[in-house]
Amino acid sequence: MKDPDTYTALCDKIDRSRMVEDLTTMISIPSRNPFRQEVRKGYREKEMAEFYCDRMSDLGLEVGSRDVVPGRPNVWGVLKGRSSGPSLMLSGHLDTVGDENYADAFVPRIENNRVFGRGACDMKDGLASYLEVARVIRDEDIELNGDLILTGIADEEDQMIGSKDLGERGPWADYGIIGEPSNMEVCSAHKGQVGYLVRSLGKAVHSSRPEDGVNAIEGMMHIVDALKAFQQELMSRDAHALCGHGRCGASVIRGGTLVSTVPDYCELEVDRRILPGETREGVYAELNGLISTVVRSHPQFRFEIEGPTIDVLPLDVTSDNPVLNSVLSATRSITGDSAEAGAFFGGTDAPHFGFPTVIFGAGTLQQAHSLNEYVEIAHMMTATRVYLYSVLDLMHRT
Ligand SMILES: [Zn+2]
Repeated sequence: MKDPDTYTALCDKIDRSRMVEDLTTMISIPSRNPFRQEVRKGYREKEMAEFYCDRMSDLGLEVGSRDVVPGRPNVWGVLKGRSSGPSLMLSGHLDTVGDENYADAFVPRIENNRVFGRGACDMKDGLASYLEVARVIRDEDIELNGDLILTGIADEEDQMIGSKDLGERGPWADYGIIGEPSNMEVCSAHKGQVGYLVRSLGKAVHSSRPEDGVNAIEGMMHIVDALKAFQQELMSRDAHALCGHGRCGASVIRGGTLVSTVPDYCELEVDRRILPGETREGVYAELNGLISTVVRSHPQFRFEIEGPTIDVLPLDVTSDNPVLNSVLSATRSITGDSAEAGAFFGGTDAPHFGFPTVIFGAGTLQQAHSLNEYVEIAHMMTATRVYLYSVLDLMHRT
């Protein structure tokens, strides 16, 4: 940090009540991911995106928007730097998971210094923090070398089409930070997720004469056994320093029609969590090899693979990267802890951006997606300071 006095002065300008108001307003704008159902009001990002663009525009940012698919935009706002110094993106997703069985999910509530509601920590809190960072920088006439870019991304909770689109079509930055609920830990890595659908094709006959048919469910049982053995093999491979071991398992199975019929069809959704360095092509080759082995021992069965049905890249920001070191030193100086980089449990938009992006935010993955989602306002304040610190550290024109 070149100018700690400016940073300290700016921290005093962070307006807690304004930030909480932005957060509660955003919670009250339902932006559930449609999860491949019809895209409609309340189940898309559009209304949230409009609010976020309005707020960024109020702050004097150059605002842009692009539909990834109709009604589902990515949005951004740019606070222009004075030179071509490194640019930083503060990014968050606009969508949330659903509200099944969650009473009043979109009626924000403040209690015990916490804000409750769907999206409170995953991750409308991050979006509110970014607005406050931009406001403080602008109000105090802080000159930045590079561009500060705020983004609101579509579809993080499902297929991540928003971040994949941003990676292809921009805007881009030199560095990124995503305020996903990391429990205030700095995360520089996470596993990727690749899903495939496996079909088992048999022959249907009356179940009183099963020897005349081929039971597709029994065929799939061999695949499930082979996946279990493969999971053991993954555990015996070398671990990634932060992410540990890759994982593999059967997540969804469907098959059979009638108790009196030998089923001729069964399908299985395979979930594969990949380490940095592994690819979807490698996963496909492994799965194909595993199926070939089953077929060699049991040639009466036939299988097909479809996919990937889900495809999230792994993240691995190198330890010498400036944004990682900036967020680490911010955390150390603000919390007094000897923070070290760790791995985030889930997948995020970060690896799709195409530039080094780290994860740091208030809230936890236990609170996110729960029926009692909340964020500690104090943690949100700390996260805002961390973002502000890194903006100044990486870009302040002194
Ligand atoms: Zn999230």
